[in-house]
Amino acid sequence: MTEMVQSSAAQLPSSLEEIRALLAEIPDPEIPVITIEELGILRRVDRDGGRIVVTITPTYSGCPAMEMICGQIIDTLAANGIEDAQVKTVYSPAWTTDWMSEAAKAKLDAYGVAPPGSREAVLCPRCRSNDVRTVSSFGSTACKALMVCQACLEPFDWFKAI
Ligand SMILES: [Zn+2]
Repeated sequence: MTEMVQSSAAQLPSSLEEIRALLAEIPDPEIPVITIEELGILRRVDRDGGRIVVTITPTYSGCPAMEMICGQIIDTLAANGIEDAQVKTVYSPAWTTDWMSEAAKAKLDAYGVAPPGSREAVLCPRCRSNDVRTVSSFGSTACKALMVCQACLEPFDWFKAI
């Protein structure tokens, strides 16, 4: 547990839209080039009395990154003067890679992770060859498969479509 220091007496974010905008900036712990908003994890921000309730849908159940994301949401709110907050995890409807924005998919690709799509459509992020082979169905995390390009021999992660 880290000690939160209130940095300034700046105005507290007053609207739910402002709060959502703050949370939308939180990067995914595994793929820091995309935010939880772009991934489609951040579902809702509501007010329940004096409490802010943030609803998220995990990408893959048991993805250890989710705990980190919960912590970052609480920390971000606390840093903005919101102490009374709760993160609610909703599994239904289940997250699918369709919730990922096109911009997020392009960023993934630029980051060297093949974006979700059909297995046939996977291209090497380095040389764009489609001559790729699955090395392991579970890459650096359960969300990704480890692939290797037969053309340039570059190993890369593929964000599996679900
Ligand atoms: Zn390649």
